[in-house]
Amino acid sequence: METILIKGGHIIDPQNNLNSELDIVIEKGKITKIEKNIPPFPNCKVIDASDCIVSPSFTDLHAHLRDPGQTYKEDIKTGSLSAVAGGFTTVVCMPNTIPAIDEPSLVRYVIEKGEEIGLCRVLPTGAVTKGRKGQQLTEMALLKDAGAVYFTDDGAPIIDSNIMRKAMEYAASLGTFIANHCEDTALSKDGIAHEGEIAAALGLPPLPPEAEESMVARDCILSIRTQAPVHICHISTKLAVEIVAWAKAMGANVTAEVTPHHLYLCDDEWLDFHCKAKVSPPLREFEDIEAVRWALSSKIIDFVATDHAPHAHHEKMLDHWSCPPGMIGLQFALPIVLELVRKDYINIVRAVEVLSTEPSKKIGLKPPSIQKGNTAELVIFNPNEPWEVTEDKIFSKSKNTPLLGRKLRGKVKYTFYKGKIVYQDSSKQEFCYD
Ligand SMILES: [Zn+2]
Repeated sequence: METILIKGGHIIDPQNNLNSELDIVIEKGKITKIEKNIPPFPNCKVIDASDCIVSPSFTDLHAHLRDPGQTYKEDIKTGSLSAVAGGFTTVVCMPNTIPAIDEPSLVRYVIEKGEEIGLCRVLPTGAVTKGRKGQQLTEMALLKDAGAVYFTDDGAPIIDSNIMRKAMEYAASLGTFIANHCEDTALSKDGIAHEGEIAAALGLPPLPPEAEESMVARDCILSIRTQAPVHICHISTKLAVEIVAWAKAMGANVTAEVTPHHLYLCDDEWLDFHCKAKVSPPLREFEDIEAVRWALSSKIIDFVATDHAPHAHHEKMLDHWSCPPGMIGLQFALPIVLELVRKDYINIVRAVEVLSTEPSKKIGLKPPSIQKGNTAELVIFNPNEPWEVTEDKIFSKSKNTPLLGRKLRGKVKYTFYKGKIVYQDSSKQEFCYD
């Protein structure tokens, strides 16, 4: 392993209050020096990090890697590539595979395949109920022993409140938690787009926001009563945020995540009638976007999770009803969070917290940190470099995102995992005229 000198970067690490321009030496994969102005020395590879931020790499607690069963959409290898290109070195994947991750051998399959590929840490979640059917609890203890980091039926909400309550208590007794995709399906029914002016104007079947909000409220109340933790997946409305704020004030052990797309895109993405805008929960109105942005700043929302949901081109070309909901996100989380920094919703330290420190802590993983003696697990990114989202720059097998053709700012230049460079940006710098 060569010796690396990262020069001229601005280090941000909330773990040890680092927020200054410092150089880093990495020898045999370990950080051996963090000092100002380290001159290049013989036999070292110099990475010019001027104009860049160097931070601990990111952790995504919510990604769909589609493996096993739907590897035409994504697999653990392309999911890992997409992750490290987005600055993530830990990816927690959802159990809505085929078959669902509801028994220990499947948990082990994901872990082993992730390790074999070796680009990043791939950690599976376990299903809460067998086959994600919402009826019979899985053997959570066995799944946890096999390596499941938390439990969710994501994609499917846990409708039965009694099952949810039991699951929360069971998970708590194992030192873990349930994450719920909150959606009262009796309310959402055949809804496709957020119930509002856009859906009405376009004649799209409306999906009322209370489908999400009522289940967020239920789960918060279950947490207050049982003291068991609950995690709200992809929170997306102003009222849902207010409910979580209330529950936190009541002492509930509730956490919430928000996706890059709910922080950035409105329901007007539907204006060209294309299903690339279809996602669950649906894209909301601007008022909701403002609310989730401020909630991320005030810590009502704990962190960002991508809900990276790859679907094949032919699936996204289906009609509004048959098209599966979801969009990819692993490579867009950083530029979207940086947009919030540029617009003064959050500062850069909070940006690193919500992408790295906070999600790591949530699953009891020691957050990566830039400290002498640590194995290098970090990301070097240029926060201002513009790039156009084009299919050739997307590492995922699927290209389903409304962001295609748009310019984002903020580019990952290098990602280090286990002391090694696992991603290096090879594209030429693009220029932005707007
Ligand atoms: Zn979901």
